[in-house]
Amino acid sequence: MRLLWLRNDLRLDDHAGWQALADYQGKTAAVFILPAHWLTTDAAGLHRLGAAKAAYLQQALADLSARLAPFPLTLLQGEPVELLLAWHRLQPFELVTHAAQAPEEAGWLARLCDAGVKVHTVEAQPLFEPEQIAPLFKKFPASFTGFRKKVEKVPAWPVPAPQAAADVSRLRAAACPLTTGIDWPVTPAELAHPAWQGGETHARAWLQHYLFEQRALAHYKASRNDLAGRYFSSHLSAALAWGCLSPREVWQQILEYEQQWGSDEHSYWLRFELLWREYFHWSLRVHGSQLFAAGGLTGKAGPGVFNAEYWQAWCEARTGWPMIDAGLKELMATGFCSNRLRQNLASCFIHELGLDWCLGARFFEQHLLDFDVASNWGNWAYIAGAGHDPRHGRLFNPHRQWRQYDPELTHLHQWLPELGPVTLTQVEAHQRGEQLLNYPAPLVPLRTL
Ligand SMILES: Cc1cc2nc3c(=O)[nH]c(=O)nc-3n(C[C@H](O)[C@H](O)[C@H](O)COP(=O)(O)OP(=O)(O)OC[C@H]3O[C@@H](n4cnc5c(N)ncnc54)[C@H](O)[C@@H]3O)c2cc1C
Repeated sequence: MRLLWLRNDLRLDDHAGWQALADYQGKTAAVFILPAHWLTTDAAGLHRLGAAKAAYLQQALADLSARLAPFPLTLLQGEPVELLLAWHRLQPFELVTHAAQAPEEAGWLARLCDAGVKVHTVEAQPLFEPEQIAPLFKKFPASFTGFRKKVEKVPAWPVPAPQAAADVSRLRAAACPLTTGIDWPVTPAELAHPAWQGGETHARAWLQHYLFEQRALAHYKASRNDLAGRYFSSHLSAALAWGCLSPREVWQQILEYEQQWGSDEHSYWLRFELLWREYFHWSLRVHGSQLFAAGGLTGKAGPGVFNAEYWQAWCEARTGWPMIDAGLKELMATGFCSNRLRQNLASCFIHELGLDWCLGARFFEQHLLDFDVASNWGNWAYIAGAGHDPRHGRLFNPHRQWRQYDPELTHLHQWLPELGPVTLTQVEAHQRGEQLLNYPAPLVPLRTL
């Protein structure tokens, strides 16, 4: 028997794992396992499955089940290795799964191999093949620019074309001998943006809509730093993170858009951002558990302090900085906020409150519906000065940023309506600890111009 273990590859298209099942003569099965420890709350009050994230995942699995039917998608909940070994004892199988992204997954695969399970890995998350990246491994580029220039300039580096979906209609299903099902801890949240309807079907429809119906890529570079709106950026991150869309498919669709409408700085820039994602993915494979240590890749950054008052205020979106509280409210309610907001949230957490960047990364891990282990931890480390290209970390000046990207305070009015019709100047004065509004005082005055 051959078993496909799905994790961040919840799709049929462009998936070598399904092809490996379709090529197999014997019985097959496919499983997704919700790791039990995602639901365990730690000492800081964090777990790994916020409401929006759970809702997206639940929808993505439902969509995949529907696409596969009548072939069953088995859902399990528990400790992944224990469950797989229990299944293997009752009914031996060869395991097909996508290559590990984080050290935790690498540990799972190593334990399965040690226990005698034959494990075959396929690539499902990155744009490039390991053989294309391997020459860089001797000395992985210390900066994104070094990586990008290499990738863009060497003509032998095409992004591999996405593969057509395997024919799963003739798969012969093996029944799962274990108790199946997931006890979802939350009622599915109403996901606020059409791009976040979980699953491959919706993700593909959203990609077509964004590129070809709305043609929102035509202004991508100019609007991608905005804080609010439906089309300011692609909103593809959740689909990519859960693997409902393959990045190669997205890349190819951008090339098709360019064929149709011409390439320009906007279409180039979306591919540029996909290369950031790629850079973080390969960096994690190279650096492994080092990324999750307080010192990060540099080994130099301090762990930050734990301040219970600041931490609690953060978790309640009550830092007293309206710009930041509005971002936290959006993140906790929807599982998303813009890249510009994420940068400012992380910068304030680390550089204004002096809190531990790893705690901030774990907070995002719980809430983000597009949580991607490499991009999240890579970006947090980058802002903390503990990642690539450290330069003492990145301190963002929210006042300058809002003046540039949201001077009308559209985002703030949407998420903190209780503030009333305040102006940017008034909010800035409040955040500096001068002339307070009818709003909690800042935990610390913001060190901005
Ligand atoms: C502190 C912090 C934490 C983050 N955590 C995550 C995360 O867990 N998951 C995640 O997908 N992105 C993360 N990002 C990156 C970025 O904020 C999101 O990818 C982006 O906001 C998602 O919206 P979008 O799909 O509309 O992006 P677009 O601007 O449309 O970009 C297209 C795609 O490119 C990739 N991308 C864009 N910017 C980045 C970036 N800086 N780093 C890596 N990939 C990028 C994403 O896959 C994104 O979907 C984080 C950024 C910061 C500053």
